Amino acid sequence: MKVGIIRCQLTEDMCPGTVDFKVAGEGTQAFEETGPVEIVGFLSCGGCSGKKAVTRAKMMVDRGAEGIVFASCMKKGNPIGYPCPHFAAMKAAVEAKVGPEVKIIDWTH
Ligand code: SF4
Repeated sequence: MKVGIIRCQLTEDMCPGTVDFKVAGEGTQAFEETGPVEIVGFLSCGGCSGKKAVTRAKMMVDRGAEGIVFASCMKKGNPIGYPCPHFAAMKAAVEAKVGPEVKIIDWTH
Protein backbone atom coordinates (compact mmCIF):
# COMPACT_ATOMS: atom_id res chain seq x y z
CA MET A 1 0.00 0.00 0.00
CA LYS A 2 1.17 3.52 -0.81
CA VAL A 3 0.55 6.35 1.66
CA GLY A 4 1.18 10.04 2.03
CA ILE A 5 2.03 11.32 5.50
CA ILE A 6 1.07 14.75 6.79
CA ARG A 7 2.78 16.15 9.86
CA CYS A 8 2.58 19.30 12.01
CA GLN A 9 4.67 22.10 10.56
CA LEU A 10 5.42 23.49 14.01
CA THR A 11 6.94 20.16 15.05
CA GLU A 12 9.47 20.13 12.22
CA ASP A 13 11.92 22.01 14.44
CA MET A 14 11.96 19.21 17.02
CA CYS A 15 11.32 16.03 15.03
CA PRO A 16 12.51 14.84 11.61
CA GLY A 17 9.91 12.05 11.47
CA THR A 18 12.40 9.27 12.02
CA VAL A 19 10.00 6.97 13.88
CA ASP A 20 7.25 7.60 11.33
CA PHE A 21 9.46 6.20 8.58
CA LYS A 22 10.56 3.33 10.81
CA VAL A 23 7.10 2.08 11.76
CA ALA A 24 5.76 2.61 8.23
CA GLY A 25 8.54 0.48 6.78
CA GLU A 26 8.15 -2.18 9.45
CA GLY A 27 4.36 -2.32 9.37
CA THR A 28 4.16 -1.77 13.13
CA GLN A 29 2.19 0.56 15.45
CA ALA A 30 -0.45 2.35 13.30
CA PHE A 31 0.60 0.20 10.32
CA GLU A 32 -0.10 -3.18 11.90
CA GLU A 33 -3.39 -3.27 10.00
CA THR A 34 -1.91 -2.42 6.59
CA GLY A 35 1.49 -4.04 6.87
CA PRO A 36 4.59 -2.24 5.58
CA VAL A 37 3.73 0.74 3.39
CA GLU A 38 5.52 2.75 0.74
CA ILE A 39 5.67 6.46 1.52
CA VAL A 40 5.00 8.56 -1.58
CA GLY A 41 5.11 11.90 0.21
CA PHE A 42 5.90 13.36 3.65
CA LEU A 43 4.52 16.88 3.88
CA SER A 44 3.58 19.27 6.64
CA CYS A 45 0.11 20.72 7.15
CA GLY A 46 1.47 23.99 5.79
CA GLY A 47 1.16 25.81 9.10
CA CYS A 48 -1.76 26.86 11.27
CA SER A 49 -4.60 26.47 10.76
CA GLY A 50 -3.78 23.53 8.56
CA LYS A 51 -5.84 24.44 5.48
CA LYS A 52 -3.01 23.47 3.13
CA ALA A 53 -3.26 19.90 4.42
CA VAL A 54 -6.38 19.47 2.33
CA THR A 55 -4.80 20.25 -1.03
CA ARG A 56 -1.53 18.59 -0.02
CA ALA A 57 -3.37 15.35 0.80
CA LYS A 58 -5.13 15.47 -2.56
CA MET A 59 -1.80 16.04 -4.30
CA MET A 60 -0.37 12.90 -2.72
CA VAL A 61 -3.46 10.89 -3.70
CA ASP A 62 -3.07 12.15 -7.28
CA ARG A 63 0.51 10.86 -7.12
CA GLY A 64 -0.47 7.38 -6.04
CA ALA A 65 -1.24 7.46 -2.32
CA GLU A 66 -3.97 5.00 -1.37
CA GLY A 67 -3.99 6.23 2.19
CA ILE A 68 -3.40 9.50 4.03
CA VAL A 69 -1.68 9.24 7.39
CA PHE A 70 -1.62 12.00 9.99
CA ALA A 71 1.59 11.79 12.02
CA SER A 72 1.26 11.52 15.78
CA CYS A 73 2.47 15.08 16.31
CA MET A 74 -1.02 16.11 15.26
CA LYS A 75 -3.70 14.18 17.19
CA LYS A 76 -1.43 12.95 19.99
CA GLY A 77 0.80 16.01 20.17
CA ASN A 78 4.09 14.08 20.05
CA PRO A 79 6.74 14.72 21.25
CA ILE A 80 5.70 17.46 23.69
CA GLY A 81 2.12 16.47 24.50
CA TYR A 82 0.56 19.37 22.61
CA PRO A 83 -2.11 18.13 20.18
CA CYS A 84 -3.15 20.23 17.20
CA PRO A 85 -6.21 22.34 18.08
CA HIS A 86 -7.32 22.21 14.46
CA PHE A 87 -7.00 18.48 13.99
CA ALA A 88 -10.68 17.49 13.91
CA ALA A 89 -11.58 20.09 11.29
CA MET A 90 -8.47 19.34 9.27
CA LYS A 91 -9.10 15.60 9.25
CA ALA A 92 -12.75 16.06 8.26
CA ALA A 93 -11.81 18.38 5.41
CA VAL A 94 -9.13 15.99 4.15
CA GLU A 95 -11.56 13.06 4.27
CA ALA A 96 -14.14 15.03 2.29
CA LYS A 97 -11.54 16.08 -0.28
CA VAL A 98 -9.92 12.70 -0.98
CA GLY A 99 -13.11 10.63 -0.82
CA PRO A 100 -14.08 7.35 0.83
CA GLU A 101 -11.77 5.16 -1.29
CA VAL A 102 -8.73 6.63 0.45
CA LYS A 103 -7.85 5.09 3.81
CA ILE A 104 -7.32 7.59 6.61
CA ILE A 105 -4.98 6.75 9.51
CA ASP A 106 -4.87 9.40 12.25
CA TRP A 107 -1.69 8.44 14.11
CA THR A 108 1.63 6.75 13.40
CA HIS A 109 3.22 5.64 16.69
S1 SF4 B 1 -2.45 23.46 12.24
FE1 SF4 B 1 -1.99 21.94 13.82
S2 SF4 B 1 -0.70 20.48 12.78
FE2 SF4 B 1 -0.61 22.36 11.58
S3 SF4 B 1 1.11 23.61 12.38
FE3 SF4 B 1 -0.73 24.24 13.49
S4 SF4 B 1 -0.69 22.95 15.36
FE4 SF4 B 1 0.65 21.97 13.85
